[in-house]
Amino acid sequence: MVVKIEKRKLIILGAGFAGIRVVQDLLKKNANQIFDITLVDRRDTHVFQGDLYEVATAFNKKITNQCLTDLRETVATPIKDLIDFKKVKFLKDEVLGIDHTTKKLRLKKTGSISYDYLVVALGSETNYFDIPGLKDHSFDMKTVEDALKINCHLDQFFRELWEKGEERDVYISVGGGGATGVELTAELATFLRCLAKKYHYPMGKIHLQLIEGSKILISLDKKGTDLVLNRLSKLGVNTFLERYIDSVSKNEITLRFPDGKKENIPSDFLVWTGGVMVNRIVQDSLGSKSKRGAMKVNPYLQSEHDKNIFVAGDNAFFQWGSDRPLPMVAQIAYQQGALVARNLLRISCGEALIRFEPKSPMYLIPLGGKYALLNTGKRIFVGRWVWLLKRWVYFKYALSILPFWKALAKFAHSTRIFTEND
Ligand SMILES: Cc1cc2nc3c(=O)[nH]c(=O)nc-3n(C[C@H](O)[C@H](O)[C@H](O)COP(=O)(O)OP(=O)(O)OC[C@H]3O[C@@H](n4cnc5c(N)ncnc54)[C@H](O)[C@@H]3O)c2cc1C
Repeated sequence: MVVKIEKRKLIILGAGFAGIRVVQDLLKKNANQIFDITLVDRRDTHVFQGDLYEVATAFNKKITNQCLTDLRETVATPIKDLIDFKKVKFLKDEVLGIDHTTKKLRLKKTGSISYDYLVVALGSETNYFDIPGLKDHSFDMKTVEDALKINCHLDQFFRELWEKGEERDVYISVGGGGATGVELTAELATFLRCLAKKYHYPMGKIHLQLIEGSKILISLDKKGTDLVLNRLSKLGVNTFLERYIDSVSKNEITLRFPDGKKENIPSDFLVWTGGVMVNRIVQDSLGSKSKRGAMKVNPYLQSEHDKNIFVAGDNAFFQWGSDRPLPMVAQIAYQQGALVARNLLRISCGEALIRFEPKSPMYLIPLGGKYALLNTGKRIFVGRWVWLLKRWVYFKYALSILPFWKALAKFAHSTRIFTEND
């Protein structure tokens, strides 16, 4: 008599850096024979967010549907190219809630589904800190659609000025001097030059400004910040440090100094990159307010509330040192996804779980054109070779999720498009 063993239901929420790593590593070990695996994401593509700034600033002589598709494909890869759907069920659906007491999920289209094991990797979203007018009068850059919107909107903006024959001062602002804000501002400098040429607009009338609340940029020290300031200044960027965005209206930003004084600056277009928070579904379902809305995990990356739930990437609050959370970066999400897959396999064999030992992330920050900064934590390097290193990191990542020729084609495609305006 053949005894059929019931497979345990494993659901992975989010096909981002952590979620894709979990599924691919499980499949390498044929875990679909042990688990009934379902992957849920509201999108059917996996996105490399580290290059969204390039999508937002890639220059097109004429914007067509084909060029938007080409641009999208530089950072978005269809999930069907990454995962064998014969082995894993994929649900393109939106997660509305997680109830760990009944082990059930609420999905927008599918309704309620139950799980035995759950992996939560739903990433993060933009935090507007309740700043009046900010959400309504700014663009954000979390998804491919957001990045394309920035690109098309700026093109349309200068086209309209050209059609009306207007030649006034225009102010393009970026809020937030973290990695995303700095890399976007630096690349916008080149993009705006291309748009000025395309629509015969005097470059001298275009003002690009970066606004940051603290004294430093990208969490660098004074020396590192000065290096970045110098580069931004050469690119024609006006950087405002120690100025918080207090409120935003259609054409004006009110800035607040540390001493409480305020100043208004004109703004025609604002991208907000200054705030990130854990996905709201996670915050509401299982997050802890004291842990920036993330789920506190034990050393094996299991939720402290429920050992059948693993958490990875931006959603996990992993205590590092004295209650210091790990940074919300792709490198950590990738490392955690790999460990969650290993621990799920070990659970299925009744083996002891492995502790998460984070490798310190290195920060590679593009600073416009083929020039970038590398912060190892101990030293800072800048130059063209750092930019090449950044492209290499992209290629290595593409190789880790795609077969060699597809990874190479993706790398060549994105590098060609991203360097067109350098
Ligand atoms: C513009 C930008 C630039 C960045 N640059 C870098 C960089 O250079 N280096 C670096 O290390 N990190 C970078 N990061 C951070 C990095 O992208 C994140 O830390 C990383 O993506 C986190 O991985 P994750 O798996 O937790 O979430 P994600 O990769 O964000 O994946 C979350 C997934 O969940 C899905 N999802 C979300 N909500 C729902 C829902 N309700 N229902 C269904 N599906 C849902 C999303 O569609 C997404 O596919 C950048 C982030 C941004 C926004």
